[in-house]
Amino acid sequence: MSLRKKLIAWYLGIVAVVLSIFGVAIYFYLSSGLRNVIDASLNDQVKAIEARLRAAERGEEFPDVSSDRLTIAPEFVELISPTGEVTDVAALSESHRVPINRDLLEAVRRSAEPIGEDAIAADGKAMRVVTWRVIGDDGEVSAFIRAGYVIEDVRRAERTVLVILLVAIPLALALASYGGKILADAVLGPLDRITRTAQSIGARNLKQRVEVPSSRDELARLAETFNQMIARLDEAFERERRFTDDASHELRTPLTVLRSEIEIALRRERTPEDYQRVLQRALDEIVRLCRLVDDLLTLSRSDTGRLTLELVPLPLGELCRDIGDHLRPLIEERGLDLVMEIPESPIIVSGDQRRLKQLLLNLLDNAIKFTPAGGRITVALSQREGRAIVQISDTGCGIAPEDIPHIFERFYRRRKKARDQASGSGLGLAIARWIVEAHGGSISVTSEPGKGSTFTFDLPLADHPSSPTTAS
Ligand code: ADP
Repeated sequence: MSLRKKLIAWYLGIVAVVLSIFGVAIYFYLSSGLRNVIDASLNDQVKAIEARLRAAERGEEFPDVSSDRLTIAPEFVELISPTGEVTDVAALSESHRVPINRDLLEAVRRSAEPIGEDAIAADGKAMRVVTWRVIGDDGEVSAFIRAGYVIEDVRRAERTVLVILLVAIPLALALASYGGKILADAVLGPLDRITRTAQSIGARNLKQRVEVPSSRDELARLAETFNQMIARLDEAFERERRFTDDASHELRTPLTVLRSEIEIALRRERTPEDYQRVLQRALDEIVRLCRLVDDLLTLSRSDTGRLTLELVPLPLGELCRDIGDHLRPLIEERGLDLVMEIPESPIIVSGDQRRLKQLLLNLLDNAIKFTPAGGRITVALSQREGRAIVQISDTGCGIAPEDIPHIFERFYRRRKKARDQASGSGLGLAIARWIVEAHGGSISVTSEPGKGSTFTFDLPLADHPSSPTTAS
């Protein structure tokens, strides 16, 4: 069953129940109200007769029993003996009299008030009959008094109300079903449009958007949320496309170099030294390719969550010193100075040793690449507010302010067509950011073109609550 049909069915169901309760209440209120008015008047009259009969029995004068209530003239008044035989009767019309209900007489015997009942007269007319009793001096019932009144008008009024209700309720339901349909269309129409747009959107037309209703309601929010989701998907697809494009270009360059070097070398006979030189260049390109493929694999696994960290408590100072010692020969060979500012007391983080080494290597590799001879590279470690802070500064070429927001993006260097085509996959900082964030930290950079750059990252300390506990 569609949501539209369910909505209309529920709506109609609720309206039908409410109208029925309302109709039944009106009908009973009307019919009992009308009977109460008649009963009250008949009650007064039978009680007045009772008072007179008792006075007559005692030989007293008739008391003046008058009523404030609207009095109606009964069709008949009967006196009935305690055994149930009519002993006296005053009737406007004989045909309006009704048979005696002996069970009712028994009930009246014990009742403190007159009892009214609906009855049908000999001529088929609807009657209201009130019965009361007279108690003699001996405390026993000495007689019953009955007064009857034709209630054809009341029955007619009841029938009219019933007919009105029986016509009005289905009519109201028909109107409600029409209203329900309009309501369901108003609510579900935009949903249908969203569904149709969603169905027509594929990877190729992610620029399409759902029309946002002008009302500031849930449906407008749904359409907006849907559009935002499509925009995010579009961005993700675009990123993916760019990434694949960049990656294939990056892979093609070393392969083209390899191919042309080998083709040229094979064109004629060469000396062993020439072959060695070509092979060495081929090896360099292959090393570059391997690094690029490794980096691509790291990022693609991190994207799909297949890369897990093996977390152990790690003294970060020691790790920095190890990497510094490992790179020192290269740094000195480039005419650079390496300064280590590592505190004596150990700073322990919960980290993946291989990944943190990769992070430091990527940052230091850049610092070496982008700092001319005579410059200085500083590695400083400190701790603050439950976090270990590492700063890697250089006195190199620095980064243009417009590039700073993008350098952590994959292959930004390639897209930027930077003058510096220094060896590197173009993925070093993207991987560095992933490693830091997977450890629960953050990385940032400050730089002044021509003066140098400082990359700062922080990691939660091992015993700190924000320290990563699950592999990601
Ligand atoms: P790659 O070094 O392979 O180009 P990275 O992701 O490591 O890729 O770096 C991206 C870009 O950020 C670099 O191409 C360079 O333009 C800039 N960059 C990174 N580190 C530095 C640094 N220490 N000094 C100047 N520029 C830097």
